[in-house]
Amino acid sequence: MDRFVYADNAATTSVLPEVMESMLPYLKEFYGNPSSLHRKGREAKRAIDDARMRIAEALNCKANEIYFTSCGSEADNWAIKGAAKARADKGKHIITTKIEHHAVLHAMRSLEKEGFEVTYLDVDNTGYVSPERVEKALRPDTTLVCIMYANNEIGTIEPIAEIAKVVKAHGALMFTDAVQAVGHIPVNISELGVDLLAFSGHKFHAPKGVGALYIRNGVRIETLIDGGGQERSRRGGTENVAEIVGMATALDLAVSRLDEMERVEKMRDRLIDEILKIPNSFLNGGRTRRLPGNVNVGFEFIEGESLLLMLDMAGICASTGSACSSASLEPSHVLLSVGLPVEKAHGSLRLSLSPENTAADIDYILEKLPPIVQRLRDMSPLYNKG
Ligand SMILES: *Cc1c(COP(=O)(O)O)cnc(C)c1O
Repeated sequence: MDRFVYADNAATTSVLPEVMESMLPYLKEFYGNPSSLHRKGREAKRAIDDARMRIAEALNCKANEIYFTSCGSEADNWAIKGAAKARADKGKHIITTKIEHHAVLHAMRSLEKEGFEVTYLDVDNTGYVSPERVEKALRPDTTLVCIMYANNEIGTIEPIAEIAKVVKAHGALMFTDAVQAVGHIPVNISELGVDLLAFSGHKFHAPKGVGALYIRNGVRIETLIDGGGQERSRRGGTENVAEIVGMATALDLAVSRLDEMERVEKMRDRLIDEILKIPNSFLNGGRTRRLPGNVNVGFEFIEGESLLLMLDMAGICASTGSACSSASLEPSHVLLSVGLPVEKAHGSLRLSLSPENTAADIDYILEKLPPIVQRLRDMSPLYNKG
């Protein structure tokens, strides 16, 4: 193997050294339980209070609107189930899209079993959800609208502020799964006008196992994890102090490095331009309104899984779509939703970049990928070699 390139940052990111350093004291000397009244407890409590403040500052909301969770999936489940159930007396209709993460889609399925009705909005062929489409779907009994900020597979950035306006005018709650957005593009919660917003540390260089839900002050939602008085009695469970501190450090770093995303965008565009020179290849998602690090391309006549294995042998870590669905052979629901036929959806590849990637990484991918695609096509019975 000549080189190693990690290009699967939408699945998870490396933990930055500064993040790990900031966590270590809370794994060593500051091991107290933040609920304890003694000095060890107070030290730990101070650390999470400080982390909450830094996170609120980075996202432009109030510190008491940030609630720590164990991951993005928990924040998604809490927002959706908690908001829908708290407002069930007002109506049982929810609106979402067909391209959400499974944490959202499966939470919706669970609510459907309890008698809620869910409208799954179509998206256009770039994955875009228009505010008009949301407006048309609103009904008198709609209590919650749930639309992701940025898609994890094809990188589409949705017009959340515009959608939130429409939803608020109607009187429903607006939730956005911002797991792929926070730390990658500027996220200003006050300007967005949403009621609920989820994010997760491991998508921006904090460790796996910590996330948060923003709940606008005054918004009533049911608890998901019942327990002690943690998180102002809204989310039970002894706080993951070290990881909460790590997530605050990672977000500070990400926000201070947001201008580096221009360099990431340039790497993305170079990858897309060069890869599309391969015959019978196509881009999934749009060229504009796209996450800085997201490349999702398809190659006719080959299987994404075989491509992935050969790239892995060449030292390149990529994905066929979402890490969650790659264990199954089901084609991606996102690619099907943007109108790809099943055969084409099977031949897709996601390369997701972070500021940790370099121009040399891109050179290496562009050196290895085209011959691998050609080799797989030469082995494919579907490919006309004539
Ligand atoms: C990764 C991801 C999640 C889940 O977050 P976890 O912390 O891994 O549970 C939810 N939504 C989107 C869009 C994601 O990319």
